[in-house]
Amino acid sequence: MKRGHNKTKIIATLGPVSNSYDMIKKLIHAGVDVFRLNFSHGSHEVHKETIALIKQANRELNTHVSILADLQGPKIRLGEVLPLTVLKEGDIFKFTTNPGIGTNEIAYITYPNFPKDVKAGETVLIDDGKIELKVLETNRKDTVVTRVIFGGPISSKKGVNLPDTQVSIPSLTEKDHADLMFALQEGVNWVALSFVRKAEDIIHLKNIIRHHGYHARVIAKIEKPEALRNIDDIIDATDAIMVARGDLGVEMPVEIVPFTQKELCIKCLANSTPVIIATQMMESMIENPHPTRAEVTDVANAVLDGADCVMLSGETAAGKYPEKVIQTMVRIIEQAEKDPKIYDRRNVPDKRSKTYLSDAICFNASNMAGEVHAAAIMGMTKTGYTAFMVSSCRPRANIYIFTNNPEVVNILNLLWGVEAFFYDGMRGTNNTFKEVQQHLVDSGHLKKGDVVINIGTMPVKEMARTNTLKISQIV
Ligand code: PGA
Ligand code: MN
Repeated sequence: MKRGHNKTKIIATLGPVSNSYDMIKKLIHAGVDVFRLNFSHGSHEVHKETIALIKQANRELNTHVSILADLQGPKIRLGEVLPLTVLKEGDIFKFTTNPGIGTNEIAYITYPNFPKDVKAGETVLIDDGKIELKVLETNRKDTVVTRVIFGGPISSKKGVNLPDTQVSIPSLTEKDHADLMFALQEGVNWVALSFVRKAEDIIHLKNIIRHHGYHARVIAKIEKPEALRNIDDIIDATDAIMVARGDLGVEMPVEIVPFTQKELCIKCLANSTPVIIATQMMESMIENPHPTRAEVTDVANAVLDGADCVMLSGETAAGKYPEKVIQTMVRIIEQAEKDPKIYDRRNVPDKRSKTYLSDAICFNASNMAGEVHAAAIMGMTKTGYTAFMVSSCRPRANIYIFTNNPEVVNILNLLWGVEAFFYDGMRGTNNTFKEVQQHLVDSGHLKKGDVVINIGTMPVKEMARTNTLKISQIV
């Protein structure tokens, strides 16, 4: 199946309303590029079945929709709480590390070191920040005493955010480790880690993936103030970034979210790191068949900010209109992509970089494509590197990438503007260029008269970095 012509990719979370074969195929047809499995929910059994269905759909539809496993990370929760428990402003409320049923006086928290790590004056937030508490004291053993600043109902297993606290839970919990091993064995293409705090969290995750012989790429979810303080190192370490606006807007003043989104888009584009905008993009469509004007504007603005992907969570995992959400999003993206300012972001290559010369080819291929109104830039890659580089130049021309690594084909489906194909012919650079062109003509991607730019390696057998650029016209 030839993918739609939108450049900005769509990530849809699968859940109870969408993890059937029929719906997965409908969502791919509607325009999904990446399916996300949220490991905060669902059993391995269900995820295993969902992954098998995605792979089956890819085979049937001849698509390369990517699979993303999203790990929960060091997320903190309340334990069980009595029904109808309400916290009142001004009251004293305690957290204990001893398991038990919670009341409006005390509740269990899933963070054994909380009393040791927390300090008086720090803020505790429950249920996406709806409830706010201030820490009065800790016995540094098993109990933390707080005062209720904003009250409201609390219920079992609600999430807890500690924006001020140096949380000592490891970045990859035991659960994450088990989920990671499972996801890698099932062949996912991307792994996202929640609540990343520093570059080492990502380096550690990458080392585990590599150590076990897998090639899955990594996404750092940016949702903590600490991550923003370490953002440059995190961007250097990771393969992609997610602006996880849900928790980010709880851990930080919510009004900084739009500016963080813009800043991270700029930094990531400059670093050729894909960036995903996530959470509440089409939230009202969980219940309603049409989005709000604010949501439409939000999706369009994410495209204008230069995002690689826009992401859906509850809208496609648990909403009433999963297919309609994608169709609507596709239309918003299509309209936003008519704006010239998202194209030709001058990603001038860094002279000090080890990859300077091949980066210069990608950059100039992109510039030249604009100059000659090329229909396509065609690249060859083993690791995917060329695709990341060309994509970040944001050419108007279609980006067709050929690789002899089937896994890389699916990985690249997340990148802005990129459509990847499997190809393992190695019969000289010129032959290779001709063959991939013919392939694209046969599949309807190119037509007679189109100007195209090929980039690749000469001699092709050496599989060195991209060093060759050829411009031609389809006859
Ligand atoms: P989550 O991450 O949905 O896994 O919490 C995204 C976010 O926080 O925005
Ligand atoms: Mn989150």
